[in-house]
Amino acid sequence: MHIETTTIHTGCEVDSAYNAVITPIYATSTFALNKLGETCGFDYTRSGNPTRKALEDTLAVLENGVAATATASGMAAIMAVLSLLGAGDHLIVPVEIYGGTHRLFSQIAPQFGIEVTFINNPNDLTELERSVKQNTKLLWIETPSNPLLKVTDIQASSQLIKSINPSILLAADNTFMSPYFQKPLDLGCDIVIHSTTKYINGHSDVVGGAVISKTAELAKRINYYVNCMGLAGSPFDTWLVARGLKTLPQRMKAHERNAQLLVEFLQEHELVKEVFYPGLKNNPQAELISKQMNGFGGMLSFVLDSSKANIDKFFAGLKYFQLAVSLGGVESLIAQPWSMSHASMPENARLKAGITPDLIRISAGIENHDDLISDLKQALENCCCC
Ligand code: PLP
Repeated sequence: MHIETTTIHTGCEVDSAYNAVITPIYATSTFALNKLGETCGFDYTRSGNPTRKALEDTLAVLENGVAATATASGMAAIMAVLSLLGAGDHLIVPVEIYGGTHRLFSQIAPQFGIEVTFINNPNDLTELERSVKQNTKLLWIETPSNPLLKVTDIQASSQLIKSINPSILLAADNTFMSPYFQKPLDLGCDIVIHSTTKYINGHSDVVGGAVISKTAELAKRINYYVNCMGLAGSPFDTWLVARGLKTLPQRMKAHERNAQLLVEFLQEHELVKEVFYPGLKNNPQAELISKQMNGFGGMLSFVLDSSKANIDKFFAGLKYFQLAVSLGGVESLIAQPWSMSHASMPENARLKAGITPDLIRISAGIENHDDLISDLKQALENCCCC
């Protein structure tokens, strides 16, 4: 089945009451037992719900996993994965990741006795090998990274850690690419997570997440923690995400096309010092990208020349790009990671990761590209102080 068919036809055969074409919202906290010891398949919505299951079934197929668990947010998904570790276990993670993930791993994980090592470059296999310890249980990667869009070689990192200790798990945050452009489980990951808030839902009207597992054993453990800790997504939210997911392939193509055109425009602009995008013609990671991704996605970032441009004036002058932290919705968003998505990282960690105040991140929406380019053009012209 092709992905355009999977997103529409998988997961919606759950309802049989009135032949509803779309899985209804089962807005119920509990399900009556048929008799003692016999349920209809569900008993309590924190543990499972038919609406949530419809989304989970689709996500599992899209990511080539055994099962998926839909959570209340991307952070809830990451917390569920972190729960696989206990006191005395060790986690490795690159320093350049989403600010909230950095905060969870640097501030909360140690409270549970989990040891965390931040590495500079997950593609530096010597550094990666050196960071592995006897008690290492998990390597966490985010590829492409947020916000500089650096690509981690999933296969190489998987092979390395598993050659040292086959029981070390590899988890990837696939939020930026979505399964349309990248399938980390096929490349050696054990777990994939999504902030479904972003491309999976695609309409900026839900906060949600998901964990997709490669094995039944991992899926069982993730479900256990999600149930115990109350991390699951609600029937209404998961219904909205399942609704948005149906057009994932069409949206991803449109996001990517607009991102490419914005990149071309920005690369030529005198107020732009550098542009970051996986699809850059001279990208030194091009070979790796073509090996593990089917496209480049809709996220890009660039460095504004702050000696010639006023950043506040630039943001204020934009008409279609809203200054907002999220990404992956149909509307174009723009952000300063330094003070927004990555503000929770200590200043030295931000600088170490290459996140500076003049770095600007764009989530290209699916509006008409001429309108978007004209908007950027006029805002750049008006913020020039040279
Ligand atoms: N992962 C990435 C790459 C993100 O960008 C975000 C949020 O921006 C998250 C995870 C966390 O997701 P949520 O905000 O849905 O909790």
